[in-house]
Amino acid sequence: MLEIKNLHAEVEGNKILNGINLTINAGEIHAIMGPNGSGKSTLSYVLAGKDDYEITQGEILFRGENVLEMDPEERAALGMFLAMQYPIEIPGVSNMTFLKTALNAQRIAREEGEIKTPDFIKKIKDLSAKLNISQEMLRRPLNVGFSGGEKKRNEILQMALLEPKLCILDETDSGLDIDALRVVSDGVNALRSPERSMLIITHYQRLLDYIVPDVVHVMYKGQIVKTGDKDLALELEEKGYAEYTGEAAA
Ligand code: ADP
Ligand code: MG
Ligand code: MG
Repeated sequence: MLEIKNLHAEVEGNKILNGINLTINAGEIHAIMGPNGSGKSTLSYVLAGKDDYEITQGEILFRGENVLEMDPEERAALGMFLAMQYPIEIPGVSNMTFLKTALNAQRIAREEGEIKTPDFIKKIKDLSAKLNISQEMLRRPLNVGFSGGEKKRNEILQMALLEPKLCILDETDSGLDIDALRVVSDGVNALRSPERSMLIITHYQRLLDYIVPDVVHVMYKGQIVKTGDKDLALELEEKGYAEYTGEAAA
């Protein structure tokens, strides 16, 4: 599904990613944990194709194709989805219109034709009910005035609608109370499938109680410094990152 080889990336001359190697097979859920500033969000942006980042070395293969030569829309059409740590607000565009446009852009890129409006409405109603998203939230401008938790639930709504092959979730748990965390986790778990992979970035172990990963990685200073199974997340919760950062535990 995804193969990252010796990936190095810079922003404005600052080296942020320093040789990332990561392979995710179809159906697997990987978690990346690590202290703030380790480069987790940078990795998610580089995968999704956000500009501002200069790739100085390495490669990324997604479903066997070299994604570094693709723009973000092509990556999305191939089935990559990023739920962002800080979802963007678009004042002039209703949430519903945004969702329909995103889905149709993907369908057109795949030569499937636009979705029929009644089909879209039915789909959105079903999915938003599961994610506790009101009709009013669908009519509002995208993310404008949404609470932190509402933005995160709305990211999962987009993801469920687009049915990506690779779901990248960047700190989707931040800003969620315990009930919202469960709603989001149920939404994510409903998308688990042998044909779909997930990369879950989180600062805290809590989310991984609900979305149980196959593999857990620790990232520090732009490198993966440790890989283990779900027990690694529990160990990090208990002991912190000191063992990997070389700093004394607080
Ligand atoms: P994490 O998500 O693990 O907290 P980030 O990927 O957000 O880490 O950031 C990694 C490092 O890169 C931080 O030191 C951050 O300050 C730096 N960084 C990220 N984006 C930029 C940018 N646009 N310009 C300069 N430095 C940046
Ligand atoms: Mg951070
Ligand atoms: Mg981050």
